[in-house]
Amino acid sequence: MHKINCKKVLEDIYKDVSSKENKGAIATYIPELAKISPDNFGICFLSIDNEEYKIGDWQTKFSIQSISKVLSLGLAYKIFGDKIWERVGVEPSGTPFNSLIQLESDNGIPRNPFINSGAMVICDMLVSHLENPKEDFLAYVREVCDSDQIQYSETVAASEASVGYRNKALCNFIKSFGNIENEPKEVLDFYFYMCSIEMNCEELSKTFMFLVKDNFKTTKGNKVLSNSKAKRVNAIMQTCGFYDESGEFSFKVGLPGKSGVGGGIVAIYPDKYCITVWSPKLNKKGNSYRGMKFLEAFTTETELSIF
Ligand code: GLN
Repeated sequence: MHKINCKKVLEDIYKDVSSKENKGAIATYIPELAKISPDNFGICFLSIDNEEYKIGDWQTKFSIQSISKVLSLGLAYKIFGDKIWERVGVEPSGTPFNSLIQLESDNGIPRNPFINSGAMVICDMLVSHLENPKEDFLAYVREVCDSDQIQYSETVAASEASVGYRNKALCNFIKSFGNIENEPKEVLDFYFYMCSIEMNCEELSKTFMFLVKDNFKTTKGNKVLSNSKAKRVNAIMQTCGFYDESGEFSFKVGLPGKSGVGGGIVAIYPDKYCITVWSPKLNKKGNSYRGMKFLEAFTTETELSIF
């Protein structure tokens, strides 16, 4: 794909980042996530030319959390088309992922589908449309990943539900503006399950190849999104994938990407490659500390960024 020896660069950066202090903190606000060892550090790089490089704890499953919001957006976009933009925006919020603040002045229309409020509106659409929302969504994710090994973690979903007061407030608040059709309880249940999906680095990279591959297909060749829709999903990842650190990620890494509070980050170079980094300690904005460091070094050294 590129004259650069990606394998060596990846290994060198992995060693370098591992040798430095692992700053930040695990997302303890979801009690079950607090049990994960902070030393986990895994990488999976997949390219359009079938280069595949895996390092460290790439086989260990982890909670993908907000990374799942790209998958729910993809499914809702496929089902409803541009109608979804009547209920959720495409602007970076500049606020934390679980913020309530803009919803009041925005009349319950979340700024984008990757903050919690926006993801809940997308979940509401799926709950209205799908016959068995949890089963159907999991089947879709398995198809995109081309693996039947993908599961929800009932323990993580229950753990988040037991303390999810802010998410419950968000969902009820949006409902008060009429932008949630179903009962908040039902929407939240689906949302917590969606966030609890577990994958390892390789499964995540394989899943997200649908935003890289020629014509946006799964490894089996099934079309996931039209070219124009995939362009737009990548664009929202570029501008909104890291909440109030989206500008910083774009500035330092120069790729569309999405993070989750489980410590995973997926970044995409459309037409070239997909890379997943997992390290559970998060910076103050809720994004993986080492993940950000790793990806900044990778695109800086290889110049494999879209800018
Ligand atoms: N389930 C998490 C929450 O709602 C997802 C947040 C995230 O990964 N940024 O708080």
